[in-house]
Amino acid sequence: MKEKTRILPIFISFQGCPHHCIYCNQEKITGVQDMTPEKAQKELEEGLKGQIPLEVAFYGGTFTSLDEDLQEAYFSLVTPYLGKEVTGIRISTRPDAIEKDHLVALKKKGLKKVELGCQSLDPEVLKKAGRGHSLEDIKKASRLVKEVGLDLGVQQMLGLPGEDFASFKKSLEEILFLKPDFVRLYPTLVLKETGLAQLYREGVYKPLSLEEAIQWASYGLGVYESHKIPVIRIGLQATEDLAEGKDFLAGPYHPSFGQMVKTDFLVRYLLNLLEPEERIQRIEGSGQMVSNLVGQHRRGRKALEKGQGPIAFKNTLDRVLKVQTDKRQIVIGEKDLCI
Ligand code: SF4
Repeated sequence: MKEKTRILPIFISFQGCPHHCIYCNQEKITGVQDMTPEKAQKELEEGLKGQIPLEVAFYGGTFTSLDEDLQEAYFSLVTPYLGKEVTGIRISTRPDAIEKDHLVALKKKGLKKVELGCQSLDPEVLKKAGRGHSLEDIKKASRLVKEVGLDLGVQQMLGLPGEDFASFKKSLEEILFLKPDFVRLYPTLVLKETGLAQLYREGVYKPLSLEEAIQWASYGLGVYESHKIPVIRIGLQATEDLAEGKDFLAGPYHPSFGQMVKTDFLVRYLLNLLEPEERIQRIEGSGQMVSNLVGQHRRGRKALEKGQGPIAFKNTLDRVLKVQTDKRQIVIGEKDLCI
C-alpha cells in the first residue's frame, strides 16, 4: 500500500554515528549541517504550515545513539502535535544501536517507524563499506523493531564495494526474511569527501553504470513487489548540488532515477502478463501510471513497441491501467502494485 501521509524530514546529519561509513556524506546529501533542537523546531513550524497530517522523521544520523537528553529534546518538539497534526515519529538508525527497552520507551513517546540502514546483508560487503556492524546485528535489530510493534523500514544500497549482482540478489532474499514493512533502494554514488572517493581515485572502486543500476534496482523492485513490500524511495532525493554534479564524483546519479526504475519494472511486469503472440493495441490510465510506463524520453514505450509494434497511449482519470490487447483487456489496479 502506498504511503499517504506526508513525511517531514529533519536531518540530524551524522549525529550519533560512531564513524563515517565509507560512502556516506550526509551533509552533501542533505545540505544540512549542525542540526539542533532549536533549528528542528523552526523546521517543524514551517512544515506544519504545509499539508497535514504529517509524520516527523529524524533522518541522516543514528538517532538511538544520541545522548538521551538530545533524543528527548527532539521528541518533545513533536509531542504537542501528536494525534493532531502529526500522526507519529519515525527515525533512521544503525542496526547495532537498537535495544528493546529503549525502543519501548520511544514508542510510548510517539515513535511509529524505525528505518534501519542495512545497505547489504553480505558480511563481506558490510565490511568493505566500513559499516562496523554484522549481519547478525541487522537480524537482531529487525526482530526487536517488529517485536516492539513498530514498523520496520529497510534501507538497501546497490553497487557497494565488493557487491556483484549475485551478492545483491542474496541480500534481497535475506531482507525478505526480515519482513520489512517498507524498503528504500539507493544506488551507491561516489560523493566527495568520503572514503569511497579515495578508493575511486585510486582505481580500486568502480561504480555501477546508470544502466546497470537501473537493471539491478528494477530487479529488486520486482522482488519486493512480488512480496507486496512497498519500495517507498528509489534513488537519492535530487538536490541542486547533486544535479549540478558539485557533490559527487561518479556513479549512477540521475534526477529521475526512481522513475526510470519503475518504467523498466512496469514494462517487464506487463510483458509477463501477455500470452505468447498476444499483442498490445492500446494502453490507458491515470497520468501517473501511464507516465511511469511511458517513462523518461519514452524509454518504456520504446521498449514495449520494440516487440509489440505501435501502441496507442491515452491519459484518463481512471486509477487503473487498462491494457487492450488483440485478445482481451487487462486491468492493473492500485491493489496489484505497491508503486
Ligand atoms: S550511513 Fe548512516 S551510520 Fe553510516 S555515517 Fe551515514 S548516517 Fe551514519
